[in-house]
Amino acid sequence: MTFHAFLIKYAEIAIKGKNRYVFEDALVKQIRLALGKISDGFQVNKEPGRIYVYCPEEYDYEETVAALGRVFGIVYLCPVMIFEDQGFDQTAKDIVSYMQAVHPGFSQSFKVFTRRAKKSYPIPSMDFSAKIGEILLTAFPQASVDVHQPELNLSIEIREKIYVYSQNITGAGGLPTGTNGKAMLLLSGGIDSPVAGYMIAKRGVVIEAVYFHAPPYTSERAKQKVVDLAKELALYTGPIRLYVVNFTDIQLAIYDHCPHDELTIIMRRYMMKIAEYLAKKDRCLGLITGESLGQVASQTIQSLAVTNEVCSLPVFRPVIGFDKEEIVRRARRIGTFDTSILPFEDCCTIFVAKHPVTKPDLRTIQRSEKKLEGIVEELFQKAIAETEVIIAE
Ligand code: ATP
Ligand code: MG
Repeated sequence: MTFHAFLIKYAEIAIKGKNRYVFEDALVKQIRLALGKISDGFQVNKEPGRIYVYCPEEYDYEETVAALGRVFGIVYLCPVMIFEDQGFDQTAKDIVSYMQAVHPGFSQSFKVFTRRAKKSYPIPSMDFSAKIGEILLTAFPQASVDVHQPELNLSIEIREKIYVYSQNITGAGGLPTGTNGKAMLLLSGGIDSPVAGYMIAKRGVVIEAVYFHAPPYTSERAKQKVVDLAKELALYTGPIRLYVVNFTDIQLAIYDHCPHDELTIIMRRYMMKIAEYLAKKDRCLGLITGESLGQVASQTIQSLAVTNEVCSLPVFRPVIGFDKEEIVRRARRIGTFDTSILPFEDCCTIFVAKHPVTKPDLRTIQRSEKKLEGIVEELFQKAIAETEVIIAE
């Protein structure tokens, strides 16, 4: 038995007043994009207060559920079986066969809820529910009716045809992509930044990304790993424009002219500056990093303050308060973890000092950076001019 449609349930969007239509349209668009990759036979219909996805005759159920499960804005998806309306007796038989197929040997408590969209249907909703309830009790003698806290809600929508559903598959939640502006993710090959990008994207934000590499100190494989991570994120967010910035010359200049215990913090300030430059060019309204307070020397509160000082855009750090295990758990759930732990060096690990400053002082850092004046500006321009753009999808 195959399902004919999915009812898409969305909560947060529904409460957004007049904006509701904007959000619903964005959700419909994202659902179409997600399913379009599987088949062009899906039909996505917006109706008052609900969205239905009608399936082609043949489709891969698991793949479809997985694709819908990655669309931000969906709270639940309900697989629906649709029967022709051939009178009550046949409908009752169809519903029993639905239950036998979907919940074989059903023995729990249940409630039938009927919604009569077709007002000309001869049986009122309450009567319809009661009659179906009785028939199900006969068909499933172990089952019982509980109208207050049923273990199973069986929903029936009477339309031109009869729609039956009872399963709620948890969706990704959040808000549909494209409803909340755009931000630039600093995407490294680590565990944290993909999770950070996911969390902001989940709030409806379109994501672009920037990766700093340092050839020949970092390998092509390290870069490919970041491209792969961007592709994994793109399954949720839609295509991601990924900037790959060659950071070698800037890093070498810092290495040659600045105190080595300040390398990381100065380098991070330059990363943020370049990221912000690219962000502004593309009208991104914020930056995103995977920083987590106290995780490493460059993520003490003093270091974050010094890093932040070079930016005028807001910097979103959604994993700031998470322990590593919490970030790992999310990375596994999102599906980026296995790629993140591939053992390719990232550009920070090569130029790190043995004892980096953990409580940098802004004025000291600024004094050190003075030594780069007359050198770094040109390197900055060159890095930007030579930036490679990859569309990850
Ligand atoms: P991650 O797991 O995301 O790599 P991390 O714990 O390794 O984070 P850091 O290396 O200190 O932490 O980097 C902190 C943040 O700075 C990263 O989460 C990321 O947003 C950004 N970042 C670090 N290195 C790079 C890089 N090479 N390219 C782009 N962004 C980077
Ligand atoms: Mg890292």
